[in-house]
Amino acid sequence: MPLSSTNTHQNGACADCGLHHQCVCSHLPKFELPAHIALLMHENELTRETNTGQWLLKAISSTSLHIWQRKQPCPKLLAMINDPAYCAYLLFPNDESIALSDAYHHAEQTSSSKTPLFIVLDGTWQEAKKMWQKSPWLQVLPSVHLLPQQQSSYQLRRNQQQGHLCTIEVGSCIVEELGFAVQAQQLNDFFQHYMRAFQADKSGHALKAKTRL
Ligand SMILES: [Zn+2]
Repeated sequence: MPLSSTNTHQNGACADCGLHHQCVCSHLPKFELPAHIALLMHENELTRETNTGQWLLKAISSTSLHIWQRKQPCPKLLAMINDPAYCAYLLFPNDESIALSDAYHHAEQTSSSKTPLFIVLDGTWQEAKKMWQKSPWLQVLPSVHLLPQQQSSYQLRRNQQQGHLCTIEVGSCIVEELGFAVQAQQLNDFFQHYMRAFQADKSGHALKAKTRL
């Protein structure tokens, strides 16, 4: 398959998706949301082979990436939390967390001028727990969880030790709970396609025609 000429890197890989034998970039959906999703990433995530959070950042315009720091709050994210234009929630299931969709509808009804800001701890479940424990500035935020069914698959994935933690799928769950089912499905479809192309790429070839979108 010819690579997209605009994205081609000098070593033959696409500069955006990193694949050598096909480019999946044109399959990524692009859309807007009436909420902001902030990925607060554990530094370990930066070195993982498939960091799917990057796709979420490219697909949805109202997103941002922040690197978690052990000793101090992330300045840009803290500024957003304190910005009256946003109403911040932390995606962190616990005894006191409320459903993300309830938080969203509540914010919609009571403070129409505020944009809900959903902060996702991006890392393994253990890393996410550590980030929470060491970050008093996150502990004071109201916490939200995904629907039970989505939450369990989310936790299962987080406990995987296989390198990719499917941040894009977490993002897709959020998008769905906000009421954008079509866009959520598009994200999932893209992710499935990307993972197949990624595996084929590692084996040194492009996807076979029948498995392409
Ligand atoms: Zn590409």
